[in-house]
Amino acid sequence: MSATHISSKNRLLRGLSREDYRSIAPYLKHVSLSLDNVLVERNMANNYVYFPLAGLISVHRVFSDHASLDTVGKEGMVGIFVAAGVKVPHARIAVQGSGSAMRVAAKQFRVLAYRSGSLQRHMHRYTCQLLQRAAQTSQCNGLHVVEARLARCLLETSDRGGSRELRMTHELLAVAMGARRTNVTVAANALRSRKLIDYTRARLRIIDRPGLIKAACACYGANAPRVEDTGR
Ligand SMILES: [Zn+2]
Repeated sequence: MSATHISSKNRLLRGLSREDYRSIAPYLKHVSLSLDNVLVERNMANNYVYFPLAGLISVHRVFSDHASLDTVGKEGMVGIFVAAGVKVPHARIAVQGSGSAMRVAAKQFRVLAYRSGSLQRHMHRYTCQLLQRAAQTSQCNGLHVVEARLARCLLETSDRGGSRELRMTHELLAVAMGARRTNVTVAANALRSRKLIDYTRARLRIIDRPGLIKAACACYGANAPRVEDTGR
């Protein structure tokens, strides 16, 4: 399989103009993502940008009074801030679902973006999508019940990682959703009793995806990336 073909599994790399892909290709390294592998420890600087091809990467940030957890799969990239030279609290970046990714040094990526207006615009579009997603999630948290939000979160995580098997504890789900762990457990029990999901402590499986979509709030799908990108 050619390097171009492998890279095209990632939506952002696939959306690059031919010239931008040619300029970045020599610096892309295909790396495997092994489950639970820590790519960057908390308080350590991340020097790389990752474009997942398969699997799931989690970005876990701890603030003074709360934490956040984002997951990124083949639809996106890890390291948009570092690629833009923006300083953010160092996150723990780990593999949440095994697969592989294309990796490029952040410093090199910044140089390429500096040289190419179309690459910059491509990254701006992705940043806008992330902002839109954050605004939608914030509204969702205030409007919708935990059970519907959990269904949505599970579906979105499954879509990003390309698997119905999720390695997520209730604690991690609570962080991802900005909810209390006890409320997540109650909601997970309810979804399990409706035979939509099943789980053990750290493994969760979506059994009935159409049923889970019905159980999710209307926000599911609203965050799906619509722009395949117009960098070409
Ligand atoms: Zn919602």
